[in-house]
Amino acid sequence: MPQLVDAMARLGTESAFEVLARANKLAQEGKDIINLGIGQPDFKTPDHIVEAAMRAMRDGHHGYTPANGIQLLREAVSVDILKHRDCVIDPDHIVIMPGGKPTMFFAVLMFGQPGTEIIYPNPGFPIYESVIKFTGAKPVPMPLHEENGFSFSADEVLGLITPKTRLIIINSPANPTGGTVPKEEMDKLAAGLDEHPHVCVLSDEIYSRMLYDDREHTSMLEYEHLRDRVIMLDGWSKTYAMTGWRLGYAVWPEDLVEHATRLAINCHSCVNAPTQYAGIAALQGPQDDAYAMLEAFDERRRVIVSELNQVEGFRCIEPGGAFYAFPNIEGTGMSAKALQDQLLEEAGVAIIAGTSFGAQGEGYVRFSYANSTENIREAIRRVREFLGNR
Ligand code: PLP
Repeated sequence: MPQLVDAMARLGTESAFEVLARANKLAQEGKDIINLGIGQPDFKTPDHIVEAAMRAMRDGHHGYTPANGIQLLREAVSVDILKHRDCVIDPDHIVIMPGGKPTMFFAVLMFGQPGTEIIYPNPGFPIYESVIKFTGAKPVPMPLHEENGFSFSADEVLGLITPKTRLIIINSPANPTGGTVPKEEMDKLAAGLDEHPHVCVLSDEIYSRMLYDDREHTSMLEYEHLRDRVIMLDGWSKTYAMTGWRLGYAVWPEDLVEHATRLAINCHSCVNAPTQYAGIAALQGPQDDAYAMLEAFDERRRVIVSELNQVEGFRCIEPGGAFYAFPNIEGTGMSAKALQDQLLEEAGVAIIAGTSFGAQGEGYVRFSYANSTENIREAIRRVREFLGNR
C-alpha cells in the first residue's frame, strides 16, 4: 500500500470537473445534456490570438522562457494594468503562470502552515479552502450573504482577523455567485488593514473585465499603501476564452516576487512559449471579440435571471459580474447536492451544488450562463418540468 502524507487526505477538489466528466459520459451514452456546470466561455479563442501562437511556433519559440515569463509579455501586462486599473506596476513584479489557479496554490503555500489562519470567501472558489487545508493552516470562512448581493462586509472580514491570520483571499467579481464588492466596501477593508500589518491579501481578479450595468472594477492594487502585501491574480482564461491554453499572471509585492519565481522554477519552469506570445497578441490586439463576448454574456444574464425567477421555489438576484447565476433554491425543499444530481441524471441539465463552494452554499446552486440563450431557456424549462413532476 502506498503510504501517502496526511495532507493528501485534506486536499479537496473542484466539483465542476467531476460534473463535467459525468455530463460527458452521459452525453456519450446518447443522453441529451445541457451543460451549465463548467465555468468557461463557450466561444472560440479569437483568431488573431491563435495565429500569434502558431507564428511563435513557426518562428522557433520552442524553448524554455524565463521562469517569470518573457519580458515582452510582462511589459504588455503592465500596460494592460495601467489601462484597466490605472496602476503603475513594474513588469519585474509580474509572474506569468500556467493559468490563474496556480497563483492561488503558490500564495497559500507561502502563508499556510499549522498554527496560521487564512480567511477565504464562502461560498467561494473551492480551490481556496482545499489548498488552505492542504497546508495545515486553519481555513476561516468569510461568509457572503445573498442580502448583500454576495459582497463581503468589510467589518465582518476585519472582525475575523486574529494574530494568527496571514492571508485574506478576496474575489470580485466572484465565482460562484457573480457578486461584486462595491468600492466603498473595498475602501473600508483597505483602510481597516492598516491596523493589521501582518496580514497579506490575495485578490483574485480573474473576472475583472466581466462586469455589467456600467459597474467599474475596483482592484486591490489601487491601494498604494497596501502594495507591499497585495498579490493580484488575473489571466486570460475568461476574458479571451483561453481556459485550455493555461495562461495567467500575478502581481507580487517586491519582497515576494522572488519566492513566487522560485516556486515556479520548482514547479513548472515556465509557461509554454507560444502561449505567452498568444498572450501578448490578446492584450495588444483588437479587443472587439472580448467586448462581443461580454455583450453576449450580458444578454444571457438577463435571460437566465428572468427564467430562474419564474421557477417555483427559486429566487435569483441579479449577478453584477462573471457568468454565473446563484439562485436560492430553499423553496424547492431539496438539498443543493440532490438537486444537482437529480437534474443531471433525470433532466439532462448540468449545474453545480452551492455546497461545492463551501458549507455556506447550502440552499443555492450555480448555473453558468456561458451557453446559448436557446440552451439556457431549454435548460430552465427542463428544471421547471423536473420540479413540477416531483
Ligand atoms: N479564480 C476564479 C474565481 C475562478 O473562477 C477560476 C476558474 O474558474 C480561476 C481563478 C482559475 O482560472 P484559470 O482557469 O485561469 O486557472
